[in-house]
Amino acid sequence: YKKVKANINDIIKEVAELFATRLQKRKINLYLDLSPELPALWVDWDKIKQVFMNMLLNALQAIEQKGEIKVSTHFDKVKNRVIIKISDTGCGIPETIIDKIFDPFFTTKAPGEGTGLGLSVSYGIVKDHGGQIFVESRPGEGTIFTIILPVETNDE
Ligand code: ADP
Ligand code: MG
Repeated sequence: YKKVKANINDIIKEVAELFATRLQKRKINLYLDLSPELPALWVDWDKIKQVFMNMLLNALQAIEQKGEIKVSTHFDKVKNRVIIKISDTGCGIPETIIDKIFDPFFTTKAPGEGTGLGLSVSYGIVKDHGGQIFVESRPGEGTIFTIILPVETNDE
């Protein structure tokens, strides 16, 4: 890991730009609700970027027709951590498989559309940053992924 002091909002904006054309073509609105109060975190920029790319790709693939994706950031001052939520109005995740989605190679997608590695890799990256990922979903309504990253020093 090559850590730099970065504002998570800047990584999210970079990923949003990478997806902009694709989202427009699919008529998917991406809303960014980024807190101006985020402290900088020590992160591996490219790894955290990969996490957001995986999340946005999954959201995009979960939306069949039109839809919305929202990414929000928030600084939890009390616990000194940054909370990022990625929500989509896609197909949602059935309760029967939700416990498996972070497993390596678990996929519900056709061959060529998914390897089943995005979430397991993302989980590992977030964990290596001392953080956590949670998921909540309602089939037919959408999904919310919550990523929590602690504010910590570069001493590891
Ligand atoms: P892949 O995208 O290659 O299938 P992932 O690890 O990224 O692998 O995701 C695993 C599975 O979790 C997906 O196949 C899908 O069933 C489910 N999933 C992940 N994100 C979403 C989402 N935003 N909406 C609905 N299902 C999702
Ligand atoms: Mg994926």
